[in-house]
Amino acid sequence: MKYNKLNGWTIVLLIISIGAIRAHKSEDETTTVERSSKKNVYALIMIDVQYCFINGSLALSNGPAGQDGAEVIPVINELIKKVPFDVFAYSLDWHPANHISFFENLESRKDYVLGGDHEKYQMFDAVTYTGPGLETTQILWPAHCIQDTDEAKLHEDLIRLPAGDNVVYINKGRNPNIDSYSAFLDNDKIEKTPLDNELKARNVTHVFVTGLALDYCVGSTAIDAINFGYKTYVIEDACRGVDGTAIEAKLNQLEQDGVEIVNSHQVEQIINSLNSKQNVIDTCTSNKRYDITDENQDDININNCQ
Ligand SMILES: [Zn+2]
Repeated sequence: MKYNKLNGWTIVLLIISIGAIRAHKSEDETTTVERSSKKNVYALIMIDVQYCFINGSLALSNGPAGQDGAEVIPVINELIKKVPFDVFAYSLDWHPANHISFFENLESRKDYVLGGDHEKYQMFDAVTYTGPGLETTQILWPAHCIQDTDEAKLHEDLIRLPAGDNVVYINKGRNPNIDSYSAFLDNDKIEKTPLDNELKARNVTHVFVTGLALDYCVGSTAIDAINFGYKTYVIEDACRGVDGTAIEAKLNQLEQDGVEIVNSHQVEQIINSLNSKQNVIDTCTSNKRYDITDENQDDININNCQ
């Protein structure tokens, strides 16, 4: 009798234990399935490959680094043709004529210049405007990329895919009172462009940023991309910039912020490698034998499926 009673308790305990293990296991499996259901989706972002920055009013060739913005075009075209990106995003600097970033508009905005002495400022100086709207510090660029002008067009040699399901075009810097270096956000980080929503709507997970200029709009776009949750790469040889020292500083900052700086020749291999990891994870998950502990590990292989 005593023996049978003990046996009964043992069976009850066993049932409780198995239930607990099953509950724990099913929680693990749910986590695994949810994580792996986020398929990698790759976007190529092309920043401001416009005449104004190539041979127009703000041509990089006139900047301290003397770089030729047109040199990014064949590199980007090769990426478009050869790398299996899922989504393509083009940005255009797209300013109204009364834009705050234009040196030519300093006089008409003099009442907002912090300190009042607007005449001491020259082109390329940074000035702080107290309004209208929010206070913002602005570099005084020559008037450039004015909406609907010829120089605001994307360069004709750049492959310009037709807008559609996997191709988006973003016009930035449209608000006269705030500049927008980033293709995601204005410089005060208040108002979003449609880019983040367009990428999220297409389930983009990884972005590769190219274009002009590395030390301004490319760099700002890449940092915002990280902050919006995308795994972010800057393809260095598909970018050109304004100032050599600023380019170096920006590249260092990007790396510290978690952006990977890569060469165009590496991109296809990076994507293939990420896809093969994804395939292994999918296979393992479908067999319910794989527990993802670190999505960023570099050494995932079929042997981990246990
Ligand atoms: Zn601009």
